[in-house]
Amino acid sequence: MKITIVGGGFGGVKTALELARDTSNQILLISDKPDFQYFPALYGTATGRSHLQSWVPLGTIFADKQNVKIVIDNISKVDPDAKSLTSDTGNVYHYDRLVMALGSVTTYFGIKGLDDFAYGIKSEQEIMRLKHHLYKAIAEDHEVEKQYVIIGGGPTGIELAASMGQFIKRLCSHYGVPHGKVGITLLEAMPRLLPKMSEKTSSKVKQRLEKIGVRVRLNKKVESASADGLIVNGKPLKSHTIIWTSGVANNPFFAANADHFELAKNGKVVVDSQMRTKNGIYVIGDNAATPFSGLAQTALHDALFVAKNMERRQNGKRAKKYKPVLPPVVIPVGENWAAFEWRFLRLYGWVAALIRRVADFVGYHDILPLGQAFSQWRAQTVVEDDYFTPTPPKSK
Ligand SMILES: Cc1cc2nc3c(=O)[nH]c(=O)nc-3n(C[C@H](O)[C@H](O)[C@H](O)COP(=O)(O)OP(=O)(O)OC[C@H]3O[C@@H](n4cnc5c(N)ncnc54)[C@H](O)[C@@H]3O)c2cc1C
Repeated sequence: MKITIVGGGFGGVKTALELARDTSNQILLISDKPDFQYFPALYGTATGRSHLQSWVPLGTIFADKQNVKIVIDNISKVDPDAKSLTSDTGNVYHYDRLVMALGSVTTYFGIKGLDDFAYGIKSEQEIMRLKHHLYKAIAEDHEVEKQYVIIGGGPTGIELAASMGQFIKRLCSHYGVPHGKVGITLLEAMPRLLPKMSEKTSSKVKQRLEKIGVRVRLNKKVESASADGLIVNGKPLKSHTIIWTSGVANNPFFAANADHFELAKNGKVVVDSQMRTKNGIYVIGDNAATPFSGLAQTALHDALFVAKNMERRQNGKRAKKYKPVLPPVVIPVGENWAAFEWRFLRLYGWVAALIRRVADFVGYHDILPLGQAFSQWRAQTVVEDDYFTPTPPKSK
């Protein structure tokens, strides 16, 4: 079977790995970046932990898979009648079967100035830009902000807020800049953190953040951003370090090709019980309008489902129906503390932190053989010294 997969993230890579087990399958994996990005570790890399934990070259993942060809290209169009894909540079790829897993993008909900003045942590470039900004202010200009502002009380904002203070203190100590208490402020527009999780978890996480010195401000709606700070609920808030972790939207590819896709209210693609569109294109992970879309574990679940169903059809068996599965969620909040929630089960503290460490190992092992997964996982504990040398990396 010849299968084309677009997207080298959780969904695309896992689908390719599963299908590659059958050596009669020929797989073309097209992605716009040469690396697989392990999103759950990005906050760690942004706050001084190893770079290795967050990116794995696609070439390494598929090194021993002779039947997987990797092409780095940015797909901008699909023509389901001609069964072809076109990239933004005009390359055309014909497909027999197509799986799309393009992931999400950042949205600023039209808030003026965020695009220009806020930092992000969703890609290598964004992380480099943020770290370089912090380095320049502290190491070169000897300036420590009164408050570093993180917008978004979801998992990413919380993980980042809890670990950023330590990184800033480390930079200050290394470059001999007096810092005192580093002011990290976390802003959330809703009345509580983690609005998708239980109230108990919201309140436990808030208490924990406050205990480690993060100021949590709820019901705070950001109205605009400028070089000097934010307007929040009509009042100015001064800061030169604003980090936006809120807002994700479906990949704009689908709206740009809207003739071929039915989009749900949230912009995600409507799929049938086999995760296909009416044109027979498989759409999985963050792109699919399924109940638990937006989590890495859902993308992995979708990938396994689609690969298994393709195999069943190939062997003349009836395809199965998609069943959404609620994944457990574990949010680390500083060293050795996490909040775990799954159905009615809740755990807070070091046991949950241990679960998160195990979950990360499983996450790496989902895409890498045991030995490589272990090295990648071990890198999570390695403190990087790239900003503590006389020649730090240049911002991209
Ligand atoms: C900071 C952060 C932390 C997160 N932490 C967690 C967590 O702890 N647990 C959890 O379960 N989930 C987490 N998530 C969510 C999780 O990362 C996503 O749900 C998951 O990555 C979705 O997988 P996917 O395959 O749909 O998309 P992705 O993994 O995003 O992969 C999409 C791929 O498509 C490529 N691509 C995009 N457009 C094109 C194009 N036009 N042409 C070619 N290639 C293209 C991209 O480069 C990428 O390789 C986090 C997300 C973020 C942003």
